Amino acid sequence: MMKVKPKYSILLPVFNEQKNLDILYQRLSKVMDSITPDYEIIFIDDHSKDNSFEILNSFHQQDPRVKIIKFTRNFGHQIAITSGLDFAQGGAVIIMDADLQDPPEIIVQFIEKYKKGYEIVYGEREKRQGETIFKRVTAFIFYRIMQIFTNIEIPLDTGDFRLIDQKVVDSLKTMQEKNKFLRGLISWTGYKQIGVKYKRDARYAGKTNFTIRKMLRFAFDGICSFSRVPLRFASFLGFGVSVISFLMAIMAFFLKVFELAPPGWLSLMLTMLFLGGVQLVTIGIIGEYLGRIYEEVKNRPLYIVDKTVGIHEKSNT
Ligand code: UDP
Ligand code: MG
Repeated sequence: MMKVKPKYSILLPVFNEQKNLDILYQRLSKVMDSITPDYEIIFIDDHSKDNSFEILNSFHQQDPRVKIIKFTRNFGHQIAITSGLDFAQGGAVIIMDADLQDPPEIIVQFIEKYKKGYEIVYGEREKRQGETIFKRVTAFIFYRIMQIFTNIEIPLDTGDFRLIDQKVVDSLKTMQEKNKFLRGLISWTGYKQIGVKYKRDARYAGKTNFTIRKMLRFAFDGICSFSRVPLRFASFLGFGVSVISFLMAIMAFFLKVFELAPPGWLSLMLTMLFLGGVQLVTIGIIGEYLGRIYEEVKNRPLYIVDKTVGIHEKSNT
């Protein structure tokens, strides 16, 4: 059998989404069938603990264009997408969540823009429904901090919901880093990009898998892999504190000379605490970077595939 590359690949990371998959697959295949029969849907099962894998299998039974990559354990959302990119054959790849927060119907507009020659078409969240105020505020702050700290243009308020050309996928595959902040890396490639506004729905069923801890880690990954500003911040802080200490030393000297020296317990305490705090913060910042260097140096594989369904060969890594 000759293998023909499909026009489009749709990648969906799945972690415990059993209640969403049926309706997701219905809506998605309806949209895709209205565009072309020439597509593949790749689900990456990030080691779900529910029945997601069995449900995905039943989709594959109905339609061999549905393919599955199953991980040996939970490797996380960004890695799941990365593995999908490794297996995708399509001339353009569409990345979306499996909880119906990214409406499949928007793909039609993505493809329109793609046909006009854009290599990256990203979804811009106009409204975020059903997300907590906390999530919205932290997301708002995060995207602004990213903008200040980094010198690449990462569009504000975008997620991973997007279409990218094969060329972009190929460049992503050459990036060997372990800390994948995909939306940043995609912008970094510099290909022609445009946004499509959409209303981000609430999750159809289930609840978010992103704990505050995962969100913080993701935010640090984004900032650390694109910016050295926090490290410089440590030096500035050190410099500022040194200037203040110098002025205080002069003051102390005069107080001593004119014998005005107060008992000094409070000021000593405050200075000590302040300096201790500053030192710990800066060590922490260095640690964040050091830890990431450590991850890179170990050079472990990004993920391990337990089994695949409907995939005959690994396209390229
Ligand atoms: N996901 C995953 N691995 C994880 C966590 C999430 O593959 O460890 C998938 C999840 O099934 C969904 C997408 O990534 O398709 C986004 O996750 P979620 O909806 O929990 O995040 P949020 O939309 O709240 O940011
Ligand atoms: Mg979600």
